[in-house]
Amino acid sequence: MIIIKSIDKWIEIFKEKQRTGKTVGLIPTMGALHAGHMSLVEKSLSENELTAATIFVNPTQFNNPEDLTNYPLTWEEDIEKLDRAGVDYLLYPKYEDLYRDAYRYKIIETEYSGDLCGFARPGHFDGVLTVVMKLLNISRATRAYFGEKDWQQYQLIQGMAESFFIDTEIVPCPLIRENSGLALSSRNKLITGSNREKAPLLFKTISSGIDIDLMKKKLSDSGFIIDYLKIKDNRIFAAVFLGEVRLIDNVSI
Ligand code: AMP
Repeated sequence: MIIIKSIDKWIEIFKEKQRTGKTVGLIPTMGALHAGHMSLVEKSLSENELTAATIFVNPTQFNNPEDLTNYPLTWEEDIEKLDRAGVDYLLYPKYEDLYRDAYRYKIIETEYSGDLCGFARPGHFDGVLTVVMKLLNISRATRAYFGEKDWQQYQLIQGMAESFFIDTEIVPCPLIRENSGLALSSRNKLITGSNREKAPLLFKTISSGIDIDLMKKKLSDSGFIIDYLKIKDNRIFAAVFLGEVRLIDNVSI
């Protein structure tokens, strides 16, 4: 696997790949990779001639500075996982290189991005959409892969791609869970003590029916602090805090 830090170098390589007609699959991540991320990698490997991953903990999508500081980093393990899987290129850029304008320009979606995770985390999706637009533009990927764990994020990126005539197919990938039902997430590494056994209750509860008030009560009684629990587009969406750790999940009804 070729690891690249420089955006200019990355642009040069993928301009050339596009010119020679190679299909490229892109997997943007913030690292601390787990089997959820690797399922996106596997899908890309099976559908493209080249697979490119990015690891960038994007500061502009963190509304809470502490969340950014505490975000898990497992650089060595991540490289090993990507390399072993057969990823061809990894971009690991610096903030100053990716945000040469110091975030003067941004992508803003004006309806859905204020709901669910965007309501609780103002500006979160501006940061997400902006960084994804940058990564799509510098990679000229044939396809880009996004997990349905972040359902709202996937929908917003899909909408952005349509609205801006982006020439990359946005590919949704199923949510991967651990055996307990807990959705895999980099933040699971931060759950400590007895909360670790409690965490699977989130999925258990939101997949237990459609009585939102009852679900809220069950989760609160078990020590979860509810950020939101909502039905939208025939899905149940939840975000909760377990201690300091924010967990999200969604299930189809
Ligand atoms: P992140 O590193 O959290 O920004 O995630 C990078 C990509 O992996 C996003 O498209 C996520 O939706 C996806 N992803 C994260 N966790 C999972 C999971 N449990 N199942 C499927 N995709 C996931």
